[in-house]
This record gives sequence, structure tokens and C-alpha cells, in this order.
Amino acid sequence: MANNSTFLNSVNQVFDEASSLLSLPEDLARKIKLANSVYQVNFGVRLRKTLYTFTGYRCIHSEHVEPVKGGIRYSLSATQDEVEALAALMTYKCSLMDLPFGGSKGALIVDPYRWKNEELERITRRFTFELAKRDLIHPSQNVPGPDMGTDENVMAWMADEYRRLNPTEIDAMAAVTGKPIAVGGIDGRTEATGRGVYYSILEFLKNKKDRQKSKLRQGLEDQKVIIQGFGNVGYHVASLLHQSGAKIIAIIERDGSVVNQDGIDIESLKKYFIKKRSFEGYDGYSKVRGRFLTKDCDILIPAATEGVINKNNASNIKAKLIVEGGNGPVTSDADKILRKKGITVIPDFYANSGGVIVSYFEWVKNLSKMRYGLMQEREVEKRSENLVNTLEAMTSSTFPSDFKDDYIKGSSEIDLVRSGLEEKMRQGYQSIHEVYHSDKKIKDFRTAAMVIAVRKVSEAYNYLGI
Ligand code: NAD
Repeated sequence: MANNSTFLNSVNQVFDEASSLLSLPEDLARKIKLANSVYQVNFGVRLRKTLYTFTGYRCIHSEHVEPVKGGIRYSLSATQDEVEALAALMTYKCSLMDLPFGGSKGALIVDPYRWKNEELERITRRFTFELAKRDLIHPSQNVPGPDMGTDENVMAWMADEYRRLNPTEIDAMAAVTGKPIAVGGIDGRTEATGRGVYYSILEFLKNKKDRQKSKLRQGLEDQKVIIQGFGNVGYHVASLLHQSGAKIIAIIERDGSVVNQDGIDIESLKKYFIKKRSFEGYDGYSKVRGRFLTKDCDILIPAATEGVINKNNASNIKAKLIVEGGNGPVTSDADKILRKKGITVIPDFYANSGGVIVSYFEWVKNLSKMRYGLMQEREVEKRSENLVNTLEAMTSSTFPSDFKDDYIKGSSEIDLVRSGLEEKMRQGYQSIHEVYHSDKKIKDFRTAAMVIAVRKVSEAYNYLGI
């Protein structure tokens, strides 16, 4: 992090501000703020004729609701401070979005691109064993999901290892979310975080008062967007914005950027990136990275790592709106500078909550052992068909066939998941908007979101009698 404050300090500063606005008693505030527990495991895996020792973490921030939920990150720069900050964000995210989970997060210090698939599988299975031994992975206690450096393959290995260790556990598949559909996953989980970020932008642009304050035009057509990180979150939000007419004028990756003032062809860049794991050689490639964060644009979406917008570069940011696709990209020092410049920040624990929202749908699906929509699909289809046929008979005319097919077709799992996600993102935006505009002492959306989250956590603690 490019300043003196750590990621955890940044998260805690917002918490302190919110708890003071809520006049929380100091002892309760302290209980909520501090992580309940942090585990560090060091384990060995013999690979390429050498015994490699790996270090992993799992932090449980708050168990006011169980299970606790939070992704697992594979990264060489993972630290305990980072995992604690991410776990705290999970508590506030689940509380803000009314999801029945406490907050947790995990990390393994490993470069996922250094190892072959079968090696990464062995590392993952061993890490899962270490977590399972301590009940740090469990359908009713602690449910991991994907994060930076992990994907549905890693989640499939984790789920399978957990099931192997607990062969009589009927809910074993609910111990991990973000799995491939073939092994108990849910349609729409992979795109969920990026899609949620996209919905958060739509909500913002729909809201005249907020939009005008940021001097942004209505709608997405020709809005200039810069994105940092072209992984799971960055790609999906880029793709949806591109399909909606926005111009993605720069994408910043680890080893350089791609720039095109007329708008980047997202699908073509994605194909290239999957093949090469780099932007180098693509049309518009530049070795420059960080400096593109401060280029002129309408919407800036940091969707990679934390602390990238900090006190060193915040005063040079020219975007009208920053949407935190990643966790913790804007430090608390930067927040103050951006506020003075009139730049709105849509905070991470709202903007990127789509992942955990759809993970929640997946967890419920695994527990119920039934696909969403199964019981209603044919029934809805029959009713719609009856209505259409009756209207056609009464009016002696026919509906256009594409409308008819679309109207009659029952909702599939992906339709229901997207609809549930959109509804959650709408509700979340509305609640932040209301709190922000209700109290002059609340200076930005992040503080408003934190006030809502902390209020709900503190109410739960009060009822629990702790
Ligand atoms: P990912 O591993 O799929 O992609 C991250 C991308 O960012 C990679 O392509 C990587 O090369 C790039 N990157 C890393 N450091 C960079 C840097 N300094 N500059 C530019 N690019 C860089 O990860 P992801 O799942 O897309 O996660 C990205 C962020 O979103 C993280 O902060 C993560 O915690 C957050 N997030 C992810 C999810 C999820 O469901 N995957 C959910 C909520 C939040």
C-alpha cells in the first residue's frame, strides 16, 4: 500500500467514523471491530522433488451470524493484515446486503500461475485439509468462495476434498461456493461480482440527484471507462458495460495496459489475454500502468488489488465516479482528497457484493438440494401460454413469435439468479442513498454504507446479549 496507513487501518477508520455517528458504546465498538480469531497454517507439499512450505491464513472477523463467509485469495503478497481487513469487509458487506453470514477471509501465499494445474490441485487439497481439521471450512460454520487468484477449479478441489474428508456429511457441497455447475455450483456465479458492479453503476446513473452531483450524463452510451484488473471482476464488468454502449478506453493489467480512445473490443482482448496471460503485443499496448488511473474518464473501476488510489495519486484522479470493483482500492487518505475534489466513490463492500450474493444463492441451493425454478417453471409456462392463446383467440390476431416465445418461456436458473442479484443491488443502493442524504454529518457513500452495516451488526450483538 503506497502510504503509511495499512489496508486494515483504512477499513477501521471508516468503522470508527460510523460507530461515532451511531454513538456506539466504546466496548461494543471494540468488540465488533476486532477480528474474533486468525489462524495461520504452515504446511509442506513435495513438488518437483522439493518439499515446499506454504503459509495460509483464515481470519474469522465476526460470528454474530453463522456460518461465516469469505473468499480465499492466492497471492504472493498476502499478509495477515490484508486477510484481517478483507474479513472485516466481509462482515460489513454481508450485514449491509442482508445476507445471513458473518465475515471471514482466507489467503494462501502462492503464485497460482507458477504451478501446473495438478500441482495447484495438490497444494489446494492440502490447504483444505489444514482448514477442515480446524473447522475453518464447514457448511454451517465457515464457507469459503473464490477471490483473487482462485477460480471455480480451485473451489471444486476444495469442495471435493472436504466431501472426501466428511463422506457422511449430507450438506458437504454447501461447505464451498463458487463451484462449477457440474459439481453443485450455480449458473451465474462466475459473472456475479462483475455483474453486481455493473448493476451498481446502473443504479447510480438512474439516480438524478447523485448523478448530477457527479456531473455525469444519463445512460451508459459513450461513457468513457477505465478499468484496472482484467480478471474475473474486471472482465465481466467490462463486457457488460461494453455491451451497453460504454467505451472502455483503457484496461490496466499487471504488466501493462491496453488503450483505445474509440473503445476496446473486450471479447477480442479477453481471447488474447487467456492465450498469452499478458496484454503485450495487443493493439494499443503500452508498458505504462499506474499512470492510466489518473487519465481523463467518466468512470474509473479499480478491480485488482488494494491501495492503488492513495494519497500520492488521489489529487490527480480525473474520473467523475470511482466504482470499487476490487476490495480496498481507495485508501482512507485518498477518500478525503477525492471528497474535496467532488469525486463520488461507490464503496467496495456494496459495489462488489454480487459475488457473495450469488454465493448465498448457491449455498441455499446446495442445502435444499434443488435447482432454482424447478417447481415453478412448467406451471408459469402453462399459465403464460394459456393467456397468450386466449388473447389471440379473443382479438383474432397473433403476437409476434419472438415476443410470444420469450413471454411464454419459464424462468431458468440464470434468469432467477440475475433477477435476485439485481434486486439486491437495487435495495442496497437505495438504503445507502437514503442514509447518505438523511444526515449532513455523513460525508460520503462509504460512511453511509458503514453506518447501515455497523448498526445491524451492533443490533445483533445486543440481542445476543454479548
Ligand atoms: P482475478 O485473480 O480473477 O483477477 C485479478 C486481475 O488483476 C488479474 O488479471 C491480475 O493480473 C490483475 N492485477 C493484479 N494486480 C494488479 C495491479 N497492481 N495492477 C493491475 N492489474 C493487477 O481476481 P478477481 O476475482 O477479479 O478479484 C479482483 C478484486 O475483486 C480483488 O480485490 C478481490 O478481492 C475482489 N473481489 C472478487 C470477488 C470474486 O467473486 N472473484 C468478489 C468480491 C471482490
